[in-house]
This record gives sequence, C-alpha cells and structure tokens, in this order.
Amino acid sequence: MSDKHTYIINGATGDWEIVIGMEVHAQVKSNAKLFSGAAAAFGAEPNTLVSLVDAGMPGMLPVLNRACVAQAVRTGLGLNARINAFSRFDRKNYFYPDLPQGYQISQFAHPIVGEGEIECERNDGTIFKVGIERLHLEQDAGKSIHDLDPDATYVDLNRSGVALMEIVSRPHVRTPGDAAAYVRTLRTVLRYLDTCDGDMEKGQLRADVNVSVCRPSQYEKFIDTDSLEHLGTRCEIKNVNSLRFIMQAIEYEAQRQVNIIEDGGKINQETRLFDANAGATRSMRSKEDAHDYRYFPDPDLPPLELEQSFIDELKANLPELPAQKRKRFVEKLGLSEYDASVLVADKDRADYFEQVLEGRDPKLAANWVNNELFGRLNKEGLGIAESPVSPDQLGGIVSLIKDGVISGKIAKDVFDIIWNEGGDPAQVVEEHGMKQVTDTGAIEKVIDELITANTEQARKVRQKPKAMGWFVGQVMKAMGGKANPQAVNEILAKKLLD
Ligand code: ADP
Ligand code: MG
Repeated sequence: MSDKHTYIINGATGDWEIVIGMEVHAQVKSNAKLFSGAAAAFGAEPNTLVSLVDAGMPGMLPVLNRACVAQAVRTGLGLNARINAFSRFDRKNYFYPDLPQGYQISQFAHPIVGEGEIECERNDGTIFKVGIERLHLEQDAGKSIHDLDPDATYVDLNRSGVALMEIVSRPHVRTPGDAAAYVRTLRTVLRYLDTCDGDMEKGQLRADVNVSVCRPSQYEKFIDTDSLEHLGTRCEIKNVNSLRFIMQAIEYEAQRQVNIIEDGGKINQETRLFDANAGATRSMRSKEDAHDYRYFPDPDLPPLELEQSFIDELKANLPELPAQKRKRFVEKLGLSEYDASVLVADKDRADYFEQVLEGRDPKLAANWVNNELFGRLNKEGLGIAESPVSPDQLGGIVSLIKDGVISGKIAKDVFDIIWNEGGDPAQVVEEHGMKQVTDTGAIEKVIDELITANTEQARKVRQKPKAMGWFVGQVMKAMGGKANPQAVNEILAKKLLD
C-alpha cells in the first residue's frame, strides 16, 4: 500500500519506506569538449571528433573550456546552489577501453557547485523540494560498441572528453514517482537554462539511482539530525535511461531489499544494473570506495578560481526558470495552476504561448494553445516545432474571437483552414465569409420568423426558460453558426421571457 507522497511496503515484520538519492549526469551543451577544441556534437561518423587530447596521446595537455565552466555555474545558479569560487580537477584512475587516458578528469574534493535546492513538480501539480548536494564537472568517456561484430568490440571516441555535469541530490526522494518527477523537473530546468538538451535516448541525461529501505521512524531521525547513519544501506543502480525504467527499477529494488532483510539477511552496498527486459536489477560489482580510484589533483590543470564579477554577470543574465514562470502565469496572467503547469512543463510550449499572448487575453490564449493546438499536434504526432500554425497565426485567431469578429465555434473552422492551407486569419475570415453577425436587426429578423413558426416551443420556453437553448440552436443553424451568441441570447430573452 502506498499513499501519494511516501511509498510504504508492508513487510511481514512491519512497514518499510523507500529512500532515494539521485546522481544525474548531464551532458553540457557547448561547442567544444571540456579540455579540447574538438566538437561536442552527437551523431557524427565514429572517431571524427577526436583531438589528440581526447585520444590520450603522450604529451598532450588539457586546456579548460571557459564556456563549459560558465554552463556549470549557470546550472548551479538555476539550482539555487552555492557557487564555489575555488574548485579543482582530480584524476580518477581506472582503466576502460573507451577511456584512452587511463583516468577520468573529475572534481572530487572541490566541486564547482555546492549545496542547493530544486522545487520539483509532480504530475498532479503538487510541489516537493529536493536538496542538491553538489554539481561537479567531469569528462565523459567514449563509447564501446559491442553489436557490430560477434568477436570484437569497437570503440568510438567522439564522446571522449565531452563535458558532463554530475548533479548529486540528497536522499530526499521518497517514491518511484517522485524520482521520475525529480528527473523530469531537473531536465526542464536544464533546458530552460540551455545548459543541456536533456534527451535521455541520446544519453545526454543519464541517471544513477541510489535506493535504500528503512523504518518510517528512521527517516524522521535522518531528517532531524541530517545524519546518514540512520538510513539503511543503499544500492546504486547505474545508468537508467528512461523515466519509466527509473520507477520500475526502484520498485523492484526496494522490494528486493525488504525481502532480504526480512529473511534475516543484510544489504551489501553495491552497484547494480537494471535489466529492462526482466524488469529486475542485478549485481554488477561490489561498491568501490573513493580510495580505490587513487584520486589526486591533476598536475596538468591549475585550480579553477572564479572571479565574483564572472558569477555576477552570469547571474544577471539567467533566463526566467519554470518555477518563476509558473508563478507569474498564475499571479500576473490569472491562469489556473493547471494551465500554467502544462504550459511551463516544456520550454518550447511556453515560448510558443508567450508569442501567442503578445498583449492578448491570457486565458483565451492558454486555452487555444493547450487545447486546440496541442490536441491537434498530439493527434497528428507532431512536435511544436513542426506546427503548421504559427504563434502569429494562432494569436490572430485569438484576437478575432476576443474582438467579437468570429465566435469560438467558427474559430475552430478558421484554425482548421489555416492548419491545412495556411494564410492570415483575418483574410481567411473575410474570404470565407465567416464573420460573426452582430447586426441585431438581422438576428432579430431570424428570431421573429422562428418564433412565429414554432409557437408551441415558444410557449414552453415561457414556462421553462431553460428550454430557450433550443431556439439558440435554431438561430445558429439558420445563420450558419455565425450569429453572435451573446446577441442571440439577449434578443431571445427579451422576446420570449420579458
Ligand atoms: P558515490 O560516488 O559513492 O555514489 P555520491 O556522493 O556521488 O557517492 O552519491 C551518493 C548518492 O547516494 C547521493 O545521491 C546520496 O543522496 C545518495 N545516498 C546516500 N545515502 C543513501 C541512502 N542510505 N539511501 C539512499 N540514497 C542514499
Ligand atoms: Mg556515484
């Protein structure tokens, strides 16, 4: 059984709760790699984006890419985190066929970003906060390709040396769903900041999920004392590459741990893999400790010292972030929490909406973007960048409705024409004779005729005003849907009810 915001496993010996901490690797959006001038692009021919530094040739020296540093600082600021003016690069020594240097340059003792906090949004719109422990810069490794040849492994070094931000959360995540919401929110923030494209399928965002289980009182003690010793032993599930797999892996792993403990066993701290086909995690290696990596400061790189003016300038130019935007949409534009959340969840959608808005009615604009436009895009399997209707065109439709030129109903026809044929909304309305009839004389004439022809109906309405809807429908039908509904209602009420 589980309530919404804590996940409880009913064991034979009582209830257990889940504790989750996330390590997310986010590929820095930059032109060049962290320590070389080779391009940091995705999808190029194998081994075409490799400098001598990336190939680990003798005598090559790394040179830190200022743009990657700026991206890390901006991300730190976006996570409300402390920026460390002093940080340092260390060598993390291990062998990997796709890591030619024989070590990875990372930041161990002195990360560039310290503690922060992110406000995450669940699908139901509720908010929860997760502490950020640190963010550090490191190099990505290349890629080993095992499926090209039954007897050989190929190595592509294009990714070798690309900058990564490792973003480590505190163990503040409590349910599988919240773990997915955390990653989703983080991805949205990174996209707003334009520091990472966040495509999990392309490996631009990869999550390691740390899971432990404990009794409810243990977690409370952890929160009171901020001391990890109150928590259970964690296992780390490496490189889970979709939100759905993150949730499945956690559910499986937590139940596995409860079973072991209740059978009298002990959890070994280890690294595990999630096998999506089996829906299960399995052991990969027992957890290595920091000393196994023989970390030491990289002698080729001086410590990184940031000037306050560099940080201040990045801070001054930070874009509006999703949480602030959502708040502004609700408080300044009067949108519902729901509409604001839907618009803000995707940066392209928010940008589109703001272009439609341009001095127009916010609720009407939100309604058209969220319902008509996105309904249609979803139906046709299109992304917003492929929308046949531009923000200007949709904005034009919204203005025509607001100005009473067309009714909401006719607007759907206008939208459809523009979707298929393009064009300027005002002109489309003109050419197709779709203008709303507000000429009360014309409406009155139709109403008089209808009342005369339907005396029995008219009598009913006098007894039961609600039945007036029938007449409204008839007027609309007679006038091709173009009569101004407000005028129709007013005139009908005057003639039938006064
Ligand atoms: P490592 O490199 O050894 O994995 P890190 O400090 O990089 O260590 O990351 C540890 C992660 O594990 C953090 O996200 C932290 O919040 C999380 N964590 C620590 N203790 C627990 C625990 N008992 N249960 C769940 N997560 C934990
Ligand atoms: Mg780790």
